[in-house]
Amino acid sequence: MYGERGLSDLPVFETVQEILSHYSCPSTCPATCCKIADINLDEKDLEILRQASKYKADRIESWNEDGEDHYKISPPCPFLESDKCSIYDRRPTMCRMFPFNFSNMPDVLLLFPCDMGANIFEDYVEYSKNILNRPLPAKTIEAFEQSHCSFGIKLNKGLSVPMLVFKVYDLMAFKEYLRSGLK
Ligand code: SF4
Ligand code: SF4
Repeated sequence: MYGERGLSDLPVFETVQEILSHYSCPSTCPATCCKIADINLDEKDLEILRQASKYKADRIESWNEDGEDHYKISPPCPFLESDKCSIYDRRPTMCRMFPFNFSNMPDVLLLFPCDMGANIFEDYVEYSKNILNRPLPAKTIEAFEQSHCSFGIKLNKGLSVPMLVFKVYDLMAFKEYLRSGLK
């Protein structure tokens, strides 16, 4: 779907990195994403992981589908130690994207309603209203806020958590807004 190179070679990866540079994970979050998410790996991630001294080959699952090889780490992540990533500099692309996530469409990303996702969303709501003059629908705001509030409860019950859908084009414009310092 994304071609032969790694997902971190896509322009959207750089866009997300710049957006994330304006945020940080609250210290109150006990690395939830590392405990609940499947971490999908591409070939480039695997290559980098194999160079980590803590590489745990037995925790990398692989399968073939439609003639393509797929790899993932199931939660909880074996590289999480005392709620910290023990391979931080070599962590996979998907980890570097959190709370954003790839979707099955190349021009769409998803935002996870965790604490950091909620901070990003709050700024995006203001940006849409004040800069784009295109306020987000009240029901979108309400749905995301509800997802954020019920996030822990749903995860504990093993229920899926709805994520917010973003067009990559809109995120690129949001990145410029954050860069401008107008926030
Ligand atoms: S990305 Fe979200 S879930 Fe993951 S550590 Fe940060 S705040 Fe927590
Ligand atoms: S590799 Fe690191 S950042 Fe990624 S899920 Fe595991 S502990 Fe978390």
